[in-house]
This record gives sequence, C-alpha cells and structure tokens, in this order.
Amino acid sequence: MERIEIIGKGKPKVCIMSIVHGNEICGLEALENIKKFKLKGTVILIRANIEAYKENKRYLEINLNRVFPGNDKGKLEERTAFELSKYIYDCDFILDIHSSSEETEPFLLVSVDLPEHYNLAKSIGVKNYVTLGKVLKGSSLDECNGTKSLRFGVECGQHENKEAKENAKEISKNFLIALNVIEGERKSIEPKKYKIIGKIDIADKENFTPDKSLHAFKTINKDDIIGVFKNGEKLLAEETFIPILVDKQMKEELLLIAKEI
Ligand SMILES: [Zn+2]
Repeated sequence: MERIEIIGKGKPKVCIMSIVHGNEICGLEALENIKKFKLKGTVILIRANIEAYKENKRYLEINLNRVFPGNDKGKLEERTAFELSKYIYDCDFILDIHSSSEETEPFLLVSVDLPEHYNLAKSIGVKNYVTLGKVLKGSSLDECNGTKSLRFGVECGQHENKEAKENAKEISKNFLIALNVIEGERKSIEPKKYKIIGKIDIADKENFTPDKSLHAFKTINKDDIIGVFKNGEKLLAEETFIPILVDKQMKEELLLIAKEI
C-alpha cells in the first residue's frame, strides 16, 4: 500500500485523503474507485496512517488529525503529517474522508464557512454542512502558511458499516465531478448549515456513561441528561445544542456540539 499516489496531470490539483484515522477504512475503496475514471487534472490519493491501519487503530502514537502541519523530528504521526503537508497544502482542493464510532448521516466539515465552500458543498450531495471553527487544532482542514486551497472533511457513517463505504465512493466521485475533474451527473443538494459552538470533555471518562438519547444531529435541550457518572451524579446540558460527533466509547472528545445557522 502506497501512502501517496499521484494520478492524472495538470490543474486543478485535488487531494483525496483516506485513513487519517487508521480504523476509518471507508475511504480506501473510494480511492480505488477514482482510479477507474478519466481525469482532467491531477488527483493525489493519500492513505495517510498506514501504520495505524495495519493494526486497525485510530492512531499509534498521537492523533494524526491534531498535528498538522507536522514535525519531521516528532512522533510517528507528526512525521507523517509533515510528509503529507508537502502534498496537501500544494493542492487547490482537499477532501479528507472519515467515519465515526456512532452511526451518523454523512456530513461535510469545513474550518471556515466561505461562500466558495458552500457553493461546492451543494454539488457534493451531502445534507449537512458543519463549520468547525477553531475547536479542533491541527486537523487537515486547518489553514497552513496562508495557503488558499478549499478543504473539506467528510464523515461518511459508522466505521464497519457498508453504507459508509458507499457514501465515501459517492461523495468523492461527486466532489471530482463538481470540480470538472471527472465527467458525470452530480447530485445537487442545498445542505443544512451548522456551526460548532464547542465540545464537551469529560474529566472522569472512565466512570461516565453517555445517555442513550445522544445521537448526531438530534437536538439536546437545556437541562436534558447528557450522561451519568458511576457515583450517580448526572451531567446536564447547560444549553440547547445539536450533537455532531458523539464518541460513546469515551476515547477522546465526548462530543462536538453545534447550532444550526
Ligand atoms: Zn476520523
């Protein structure tokens, strides 16, 4: 398996990334699928964290999606980010394909909500569009050295789910059709816009059980129960919000929360 594979030639330069998280495999087939098309432009196919993928882990030393643009003398994933940065920040467009631990409808992520982002998003055929802001530093969507590429992340569904693979294929294909890199009919949808307003971190994760009612894009009202600690203490919502990424296995951020805009 190659980390970086460059196909086609000329402009635009488009980067399609997969396995930034090693256990999020839905993008791998999407990359193979892209190779079937005749290209007008350059596509850089990236299989980012091959080392973690081989062990079916999110990452081995540090979360790759928090360490961009990387460090050539740092930990494994920092070195990988450094290697990838040369390619991704040189591209005009980037699509970074992910999946999640909980089931979710596909959604697009951008770091800033530019009209160019939203216009392109309409052609990708995904119903939800989320502006991340600065809540997760070091992701592949972050601005880097003033580069001007349009960057999207996409969450395609639950890791093991077959639908996530289908979504990844469809979305990456639509993305390239929208950019005129491949020919074809594209599905056009005006996605609903959300903006991340924060994340909820639980200090004592091991003793916390998230509430069953927590699901991506299902509103939680002020004072609803978010979860319960082992000692019986409940965690209540301080404000009404929409959960976006819900991590019920309590591995990292419990959830990213948003408001519709
Ligand atoms: Zn991911």
